[in-house]
Amino acid sequence: MDYKVLSRKYRPQNFDTIIGQPHIVNTLLNSITSNRLAHGYLFSGVRGVGKTTTARVLAKTLNCLDVQENQPCNKCQNCINVTESRSLDVIELDGASNRGIDEIREIKETVKYPPISGKYKIYIIDEVHMLTKEAFNALLKTLEEPPSNVVFILATTDSHKVPETILSRTLRFDFKKITNSNISKHIINILEKENINYEELAINMIAKKADGSVRDALSVLDRIISYSRDLISYDIVKDSLGIIEDDVYINLLNSIIESDQNSLIIKVKDVIDTGYSIENFIGGFNTFLCNGMLYMSGYKKEEFLSESVEKWFNSKKDLINSTDFMRIIEEVQKFEIDSKNLLQPDIALESLFVKLSIMGNTVQISDILSNFDTNNFENKSIIETNIENKQTIDESHDDNKVKDKIAEDKKSSSDNDKIRTQKESDLDFEDIKNRFNDYWQKILNLIDEKDKRISSSLYDQKVRLNNDTIEIDLGETDNTYEQKMLDENIDLIENSIYQIINHKLKIKIKSKMKEEEKEENHPLLNEIKTKFTNTKNS
Ligand SMILES: [Zn+2]
Repeated sequence: MDYKVLSRKYRPQNFDTIIGQPHIVNTLLNSITSNRLAHGYLFSGVRGVGKTTTARVLAKTLNCLDVQENQPCNKCQNCINVTESRSLDVIELDGASNRGIDEIREIKETVKYPPISGKYKIYIIDEVHMLTKEAFNALLKTLEEPPSNVVFILATTDSHKVPETILSRTLRFDFKKITNSNISKHIINILEKENINYEELAINMIAKKADGSVRDALSVLDRIISYSRDLISYDIVKDSLGIIEDDVYINLLNSIIESDQNSLIIKVKDVIDTGYSIENFIGGFNTFLCNGMLYMSGYKKEEFLSESVEKWFNSKKDLINSTDFMRIIEEVQKFEIDSKNLLQPDIALESLFVKLSIMGNTVQISDILSNFDTNNFENKSIIETNIENKQTIDESHDDNKVKDKIAEDKKSSSDNDKIRTQKESDLDFEDIKNRFNDYWQKILNLIDEKDKRISSSLYDQKVRLNNDTIEIDLGETDNTYEQKMLDENIDLIENSIYQIINHKLKIKIKSKMKEEEKEENHPLLNEIKTKFTNTKNS
């Protein structure tokens, strides 16, 4: 027997069964009642929200031989033909695969002929934004002077890509994403008709994952039914969608708030070991954080966050600083974008979380600026470093403005020292010694984000931890350039080390060349080298 995918089997066939778009359905019904049809409609909205379905129902209603209360009868030959996609009066075109002018020219030719069995000739062009410029121009001419019995329904997920000239000649309807509760109801309705048992939590999870798209929800449901027909359970859905439970994210956030790097690393390793894809995990964390931020800003909506998550955010209200939280979101979003290109995403993920945990307790830039004595520039480099450390640089801030105002206040500097002393106890030094190579890798990653020249000259060097000193051995080859650059950027290296391990360590750069180079090299060669280095650095 033919298996019909659910989205086709349960596609709404009249206005009453269209889900979640009452504003559009009512307007269309009114225009049918009052006989005020437009010649061109533009249906815009994300995929799977009912644009094409609504277009077909509208087309069917317009040509139905026995319309009842503005609904198609679904029994007459015209209705059946539309349902089975073989009506000669309802022409569907996919703009994504028929982008060219030829198809539109054909439309231009055929609009002249009257409909065959219905009152209207209806053209539904899906993904209309994909048409070429020439095709749009040809379409425009038809839209400008359409015969009275022709209706165009254009559908698009990217209305901003549709030329203004087309937009201005169509009546536009913006389709909303379908709410989770509407998607859930729809799924439950289908499962009951199909006689399949389900757990309500499982259905909510599918709805949430579908993110407003009925089609996506039903294709997930198809997949799950195909290997679990007896019961759609929470566990099966969770595994099949690779969904990470909110508890995992809450646990991670707890460790971030407590600046507990040890437990963070263990938890992140757990996540990786469980086999979740990093992409999935970080995407889920991102959504979780964004929802949390919306919630803390006072946004409340039914089924927006689970009860336990709401409870958690309420209990942490006083501990979460919104600036820190925003910064965490920024870092996670950045990681989500970059993660596709990372060679060792698991290591990068660990270092991301360590970084997030040391970003707390930040000073807001407005607080710093309010403490500035604008005439005192002495310590500006100190405060600049501090700001960089704390990741508080607001990119929209004009650099010069910051520099003009920047000057350090002794008090703020000692406050920072306090924070540092407090932090130094956080990470066990023994642990650092034992896993120094892991930490060094993270430090390199961080340096890499700041200045690729420095990280690349550090990558292949021998590095070891000797008491409280990191020794970097540049070896015996010619390394004047590396030597000079590392010397000049020692602050950046030190800061990065501090950011990862919360300890102030000394740095010693060992180089055989250091002492010998002056005697060995020809003066002219030295001059060239210095010039080369200066040019590179400037
Ligand atoms: Zn009919």
